[in-house]
Amino acid sequence: MPAYTHLAAVTLYAGVPERACVIGISFIHERKRVLALLMLCQVNDYGEIPMANTKTLNDLFLDTLKDIYFAEKQILKALPKMARASQSEEGKAGFTQHREETQGQIERLEQVFELIDKPARGKTCEAIQGIIAEGEEIIEEFKGSPALDAGLISSAQAVEHYEIARYGTLIEWATQLGLKDVVPLLQQNLSEEEATDKKLTALAKASANAKGKRAA
Ligand code: FE
Ligand code: FE
Ligand code: FE
Repeated sequence: MPAYTHLAAVTLYAGVPERACVIGISFIHERKRVLALLMLCQVNDYGEIPMANTKTLNDLFLDTLKDIYFAEKQILKALPKMARASQSEEGKAGFTQHREETQGQIERLEQVFELIDKPARGKTCEAIQGIIAEGEEIIEEFKGSPALDAGLISSAQAVEHYEIARYGTLIEWATQLGLKDVVPLLQQNLSEEEATDKKLTALAKASANAKGKRAA
C-alpha cells in the first residue's frame, strides 16, 4: 500500500503578523496510523507565496558577460586619456596599443553573445566605473608631477586585474556549461590582459617608479 493515500491541498490564510500560511495538509496512512503533515510557508507583503529563485549558472554567466562587455567599453574610452596623460613614450605607446587590443576584445565578446544566442548588451559595472574614476583622480592630482606615470601604471593595473578576475571566472563557467566555442575567445582576451599587466609591471620597475621618487 502506498504511503501517501490521500493528499488534501487546503489553503488557509493565517495573515499578519506572522504572515505564515498553511498551503497543504498531507494525510499519510501508514499501517493503521494516520499522520497529518502541515506544510507551512511564508507569504510576501502582497499575500503571495514567493516563487523559488530558479536562476542558474547560465544566468550568472550571462550577467557577468554583460558586466565585462560594459567594462571593456568604458576602458576603451579611458585608454586614450591615459595615453595622453602619460609622460613617457613607452607609456603612451603601451596605452595606445592596449586600446587597439581592447577594440578586438569587444568584438570577441560580441562573438560570444552570438554563440550563446543573446543580444550583445552591457550591464552597468560600478566596479570599473570606480576604478576608472580613481585613475582620473590621479591624472588630475598628479598632473605635471614626476610620480604621474607611476600612478597611471598603478591605475591601469587595477583595471587589468579586474578584467583578469572576470575572464578567469567566465572561462571556468563556460567550461562547466560546456560552451566549448566560447572558451578560446575568452581565453584570448584573458591572455592579452595578462600580457598587458606584465608589461605595466616591467614599465613601472624599469623607470616610472624611480622617476616618481625625484622631486619635480
Ligand atoms: Fe580588456
Ligand atoms: Fe563588475
Ligand atoms: Fe585590459
